Amino acid sequence: MPTPFVCVSKILNKGFEMKVVKFGGSSVASAEQISKVINIVTAEADRRIVVVSAPGKRNSEDTKVTDLLIELADRVLEGIDHEAALQAVVARYAEIQKDLDLSETVVATIEADLRGRIENRSSNALQFTDTMKASGEDNHAKMIAEAFNKQGHAAKYVNPGEAGMLLSDEFGNAEVLPESFERLAALKEESEILIFPGFFGQTKDGNVATFPRGGSDITGAILAAAVKAEVYENFTDVDSVYAMDPRIVPTAPAIELMTYREMRELAYAGFGVFHDEAIIPAVHAEIPICIKNTNRPEAPGTMIVPKRKYEQTKVTGISCADGFCGIYIDKYMMNREVGFGRRLLQILEEEGISYEHTPSGIDNMSVILQSAELGADKEQGVVDRILTELEPDKICVEHGLALLMVVSEGMNYAVGMAAKATQALGDAGVNIEMINQGASEISMMFAIKDVDHKKAVHALGNAFFG
Ligand code: ASP
Repeated sequence: MPTPFVCVSKILNKGFEMKVVKFGGSSVASAEQISKVINIVTAEADRRIVVVSAPGKRNSEDTKVTDLLIELADRVLEGIDHEAALQAVVARYAEIQKDLDLSETVVATIEADLRGRIENRSSNALQFTDTMKASGEDNHAKMIAEAFNKQGHAAKYVNPGEAGMLLSDEFGNAEVLPESFERLAALKEESEILIFPGFFGQTKDGNVATFPRGGSDITGAILAAAVKAEVYENFTDVDSVYAMDPRIVPTAPAIELMTYREMRELAYAGFGVFHDEAIIPAVHAEIPICIKNTNRPEAPGTMIVPKRKYEQTKVTGISCADGFCGIYIDKYMMNREVGFGRRLLQILEEEGISYEHTPSGIDNMSVILQSAELGADKEQGVVDRILTELEPDKICVEHGLALLMVVSEGMNYAVGMAAKATQALGDAGVNIEMINQGASEISMMFAIKDVDHKKAVHALGNAFFG
């Protein structure tokens, strides 16, 4: 049985020379975790660019340094005493410094850096908060580079702004500017291990700006694309992506290999390990992505690749997400009424509501939306407009829906998959509110009542995975 890495090298036929490796907050939360990181990185000469998050949670009760920094920034902005909040951040680094046996000046420098950011703050609150948030990754990357060097591995901290990570000036929600890729490509030439702080970059005006929360994944994907890495390894605290939510089905099989498209479909309906939008730069550049566990690096992990061979009837994953609702509209002879669908969707557009799916029949049409889009404040107004402008025979809004997805590259060519799924749901007593099959080549989607969420996942799990 070949390892997933061998499969991918065959698929892409690329020369192997450089891996971009990203470690999330829990992987760098303590000295013990950082030692694991150093072992993982130095175990393979290809692991040359290392993206790090700020220290995350050490246990479920712990607070991420990024959240401590947001608290600190808020206190400064409100003009209330912030000394204890500042010391809480410094204490996290001090503990790691001590346990890694690094010089005390490291912590003194971090404290001075934080005080400097506060003293020289911008009058723009969002810009200031971004500077404070970014310090979490920035100071940690410097400390981790020291730790590598102390253990005899030549490593260098990289300043994202100086390296060319140029971002839009939407503070807290910045996007990478296209010219960044060419600039960052120069990192390929460096000989040391590069420790690159995730989550932030620099605007054209030279200000620090951050990606949305969890944005170190984005940094890693951008760097992997820029240097044309052989693989983007994303280390987290699970062995792999599982075929079903392991909290519902603890025996869910691990997914060894899947395509970007499969990842996207599964992530849409709640697969939480990876935010699919975060990996877009790597997807565009067709860089394979590997999800691995910092605590068990020997586990093969999950490879996410542009293309793969598949067995037609083998399902890759089943996911389910709550939080949807449906607007159901009946009107006799709807099929003859030119423009009905357009006018319905235009009402939603004018009300600023984005929709997900629009299954329709001869005399009926439904719109499935995220419940958060059709808030209580908007619902009655939308219903009233549909009643007056489209004159339906009947309209009803149903809340409490979940979307259930069965995903597989082989779906399009396999006979009997839908029958198997509907049979399993029927046998389990799960009522199907809507089926959408064929719109996507690689998935089958069902709307069900959210109270049936677990029952439905078990039923489909038994049907497709035994
Ligand atoms: N530290 C940031 C956060 O907690 C970014 C990241 O970890 O990816 O959102």
